[in-house]
Formats: sequence, structure tokens, C-alpha cells
Amino acid sequence: GHGIPRSHPRYWSLVLRERLVEAMREGIVVPQGLIAHGRGECFDYLIGEETQWFAREAARAAAALLLLAEHPVISVNGNAAALAADELVRLSKLLDAPLEVNLFYRTEERVRRIAELLRRKGARRVLGVEDATARIPGLPHPRGMVSPEGILRADVVLVALEDGDRAEALRRMGKRVIAIDLNPLSRTARMADVTIVDNIVRAVPLIAGEIEKLRGRPRSELGEIVQGYDNNRVLAGALLHIRERLEKLAREGVALNPLGE
Ligand code: ATP
Ligand code: MG
Repeated sequence: GHGIPRSHPRYWSLVLRERLVEAMREGIVVPQGLIAHGRGECFDYLIGEETQWFAREAARAAAALLLLAEHPVISVNGNAAALAADELVRLSKLLDAPLEVNLFYRTEERVRRIAELLRRKGARRVLGVEDATARIPGLPHPRGMVSPEGILRADVVLVALEDGDRAEALRRMGKRVIAIDLNPLSRTARMADVTIVDNIVRAVPLIAGEIEKLRGRPRSELGEIVQGYDNNRVLAGALLHIRERLEKLAREGVALNPLGE
């Protein structure tokens, strides 16, 4: 066990850190992934470490897009696998969509380890291992390697903790991109069609819940949800939420006094 006391005020944050460190020892996460997580943590701190309305609204649009998709694909990198393997496998089963291991710092060894982890968690279809023979135009090798059965032919791709350049390249290929990203200012968040500004550990079950609610609804109704969705409004909502939260904290007083004086 990690030995972190439940009573610690940052319990969950510490548990996630331990998970990532362990995953790095197992060759699933790279050191750069730890830095990326730290950037995410900072924004999680600012939004209040809870799912907010803008994430719910985006998750609903994401669910509609995924249900309407002909070839939805769930892209999985090291951090995503370390933090949310069970939830990602469950989502792929709900949608009957493949998972594709797709790494920014790609090595075949790390791809294999992540695929193994996903299969151990019950994944039926894991792409991107031996079959990453196609390329995303405009991205250098091996950053742009994808499966012809997966991301290459996908119409909707779900990415988490993605790099802005790669999100842009996917958009340029005409794909609809759903991003899970705690930073509403990242290039990925701004590039995506639908951005869920929430921690991946909360965002993936949120999407799954919306899929369960929307499954069976007529395609026209799903289409209306997508049509009526405005990612700019959602990103602006995240920024304003942070501002309002900080203003409230500043007014109320942020200093803590352990002596209770
Ligand atoms: P971009 O390239 O899109 O401008 P970046 O260079 O700032 O982003 P990257 O390291 O490329 O950052 O991508 C990691 C992204 O994932 C960051 O925006 C970070 O906020 C986000 N992130 C990190 N940890 C989590 C998490 N647990 N859940 C959701 N998002 C996260
Ligand atoms: Mg980046």
C-alpha cells in the first residue's frame, strides 16, 4: 500500500501521485508525464477538485458525439492508463469502440506494457501495438504513428492529456476531437471540438454516465445536442469559474490559523 492516511486533506491528490510514480517504475509512464500531471493538478486545485457544470455539459456533448460516431476510438497514453485504465476499458465496452495506445514519447516496449495493462483490465480490442503502421500527416515519426483500423479511419477520437500539436493534426485530418484536459488554456483544450475540463479520473466515468443516459435516444436528438453545444462557452465558463472562485476566496480570507485564533 501507499500508506497515505485517509484523513490527509489532499488524500486523493496524493493517491494519484503514488499511482503515477508506481506506473513510472513499471515503464508505463515517462518522467515527462509526471510534469504534465503536475500542470493538471494546479488547474484541478483552481477549479476546486470537483466536477463543475462546464464539464457536465461537455461530457453530455461528448457522449452524443460518441454515440453518433461510425468509428469512435479512445486514445490511451501512459498517464491515462496509469490513472484511469478500468474506466477507459469500461467506456470502450459501453461504446463497443477500440482503445488505441498512442504515445507522444513512443517506444514499442512501453506500448506493449500499456496494452498488457488494458487487457488485464478486460479490454477486448487494443490497437496501436503491432499495427501502428499508418501516419498522421504533419507529425514526425514516431509521434505520428497510428493504426489504420483505429485513429487513422476514426471519425471521432477521444484524447486525454494530449499534446496540442497532435490535437491540431487530428482536427486537420477532419476528425472530431473530444479532449479531457484540466487546463482550459492549453492548445489541446482550445483545439478540440469538445473539451471536458476535469480530472481524467472523474471525466471518464462522467462520459460513461452520460452515454448510459443518452443511449437509445433518436439520432436526431443526439444531433441536436451536438448542434447546440458551444465549446467556446464551456471554456469561457471554466475560466470564469476559476476567477469567481478566487474572488470569493480572496473576499472570505484564505489564511489559515492552526491555533484557531
Ligand atoms: P498543449 O500542448 O495542449 O498546449 P501542454 O503542453 O501545456 O498542452 P501537455 O503536457 O502537452 O501540456 O499535455 C498535458 C495536459 O494534460 C495539460 O494541459 C494538463 O493540464 C492536462 N492534465 C494533466 N493531468 C491531468 C489529469 N489528471 N486530468 C486531466 N488533465 C490533465
Ligand atoms: Mg504540449
